[in-house]
Amino acid sequence: MPLQIVRNDITKMKVDAIVNAANSSLLGGGGVDGAIHRAAGPRLLAKCITLGGCKTGDAKITSGYKLPCKYVIHTVGPVWHGGDKGEKELLESCYRRSLSLAKENGCESVAFPLISSGVYGYPKDKALKVAVDVISEFLLENEMTVYIVVFDKKAYTIGEKLFADIAEYIDDRYAEEHSDCYSRRLSDMDSMPYMGSTVHRAPKMSAPTMASEVCYDSIEDDFCGSYSPVDLNEKLKELDESFSEMLLRMIDEKGMTDAECYKKANIDRKLFSKIRSNASYKPSKPTVIAFAIALGLTLAETEEMLKKAGFALSHSNKFDIIVEYFILKGNYNIHEINEALFAFDQSLLGV
Ligand code: ADP
Repeated sequence: MPLQIVRNDITKMKVDAIVNAANSSLLGGGGVDGAIHRAAGPRLLAKCITLGGCKTGDAKITSGYKLPCKYVIHTVGPVWHGGDKGEKELLESCYRRSLSLAKENGCESVAFPLISSGVYGYPKDKALKVAVDVISEFLLENEMTVYIVVFDKKAYTIGEKLFADIAEYIDDRYAEEHSDCYSRRLSDMDSMPYMGSTVHRAPKMSAPTMASEVCYDSIEDDFCGSYSPVDLNEKLKELDESFSEMLLRMIDEKGMTDAECYKKANIDRKLFSKIRSNASYKPSKPTVIAFAIALGLTLAETEEMLKKAGFALSHSNKFDIIVEYFILKGNYNIHEINEALFAFDQSLLGV
């Protein structure tokens, strides 16, 4: 998956390059800079001394020495002075310069810390937004896997208002599903007599004898009697459109190219080719939702696509409620959705 937010110590990341939030002397410091120098060993400092410092917003590259990565890209983030001193542009430039150095050096994977969000005081949610925006723009034009490494969960929040809105939305939906009132409604329905052929329900597993009372649409009629391989073959010809067929159809209907779609879905090209070439490909649920988001599908269309892959949205899990929240709000920015999923400890889309 091209952009991932992970919680880790950046010095442990097995990637081609990690990015260091350095200071302009490049001679080491505290925070992530100190951790990187300690893990890389003294030869890193010896090399940095020869580089003649680095301007704010710019980046320089060295080897990784004892680190598990090949390179360290040192960038100097802005100090936060309230937001009206060009901090955002300088921080954007840190990400752009670092990504372009990574590209020039043939890196296929890069890990960033949240630059400037420690002692330099850039608010973490704003710092994360800059990181996500610049990296996702870069990934529209370039093939690379980029990690944003968030170190300290406690210090990390998505925008407070968004967090509160989603939390409230989850609470409401959870309450709806888990309250007594809801279970009572369900049990009331259980005791309701079936009304003619309009009520189609699966039999309770614990009461197999009820199966004969349940209407199974026309399938039941067709399948009464003995098994015939010829009939079964005929039935199989009536297979519905598969997930991958629906995906390709929707891409055409939305007038998108394949690349636009998988990039927007934060899905890598190799996975997309697999899906494209195999009509019966079984994707994971986050992958289906990632495509639904990339295609801007409505909730009903998303449900339909999920069903093709054997999944459904449910109010019994936070992941589904968060996805539903964004779709109903008409917010199809996969990276924002992933930030929210991350904040609520859920799997991210596109995996
Ligand atoms: P800056 O001076 O640019 O603010 P800091 O090193 O103080 O740099 O902090 C930048 C971010 O890196 C902070 O969000 C901090 O929590 C995080 N951080 C510190 N140590 C690590 C580490 N080992 N791995 C990943 N992130 C780290």
